[in-house]
Amino acid sequence: MSSQTTELVRNAQRSSANRPYALVVEDEAPLIELLRYNLEAEGYEILSARDGEEALLMIEERQPDIVILDWMLPNLNGIEVCRRLRSRSATRNLPIIMLTAKTEEVDRIRGLDTGADDYVMKPFSMTELKARIRAVMRRIRPGLAEDRVQVGDISIDRTQHRVVRNDVEIHLGPTEFRLLDYLIQHPGRVFSREQLLDAVWGSDVYVEARTVDVHIGRLRKALARGGETDPIRTVRSAGYSLNAG
Ligand code: CA
Repeated sequence: MSSQTTELVRNAQRSSANRPYALVVEDEAPLIELLRYNLEAEGYEILSARDGEEALLMIEERQPDIVILDWMLPNLNGIEVCRRLRSRSATRNLPIIMLTAKTEEVDRIRGLDTGADDYVMKPFSMTELKARIRAVMRRIRPGLAEDRVQVGDISIDRTQHRVVRNDVEIHLGPTEFRLLDYLIQHPGRVFSREQLLDAVWGSDVYVEARTVDVHIGRLRKALARGGETDPIRTVRSAGYSLNAG
């Protein structure tokens, strides 16, 4: 590989690491292309799956930030995909927007019961879909794709790798930083140790659940250095959450 190519690959990796990843699950090729074109312009990295089974495999491999899921799909339909994703702890909270055809009123309601965050009826305008995506992302992961996030008196700056509480800079180790970065995207939500391990350490790394307790302990200590209250809540036998502020 020439050094120029290496540089290009590195840039591509760098930029894709910063962009939210949306998986489009749709069997109509022209619609995939339309979604790709429009969502890439919104700053998303887009991958696509043509049927439900392929979608589940891709999600297992790499978790998207949001799934745009068509209802009528070969192999497994959208409802079944949604149901399976909701039944697994790793994907229980994964944002899902379902695309449905207009005549499917009854099914639409069932779709919401299976756990989709929102639904958009075909044919839809891109402006509408983009607005729905933004709303879901804001509701579910308010901190995603923003350089600076503030929850209560804690703020995190991703570009500068800086954490500030009550105007005082807090120094965190890399793992504590990633933990806080994850928790601050979902204030108030409780995560099990396993969910935190998957999100912060990665699902292919073997780390004991107790390791999470150790790093949460360090994070707490660092955040309360100035005598402030502990912003992290321990939920007995469930896990941890960051207070919403
Ligand atoms: Ca379809």
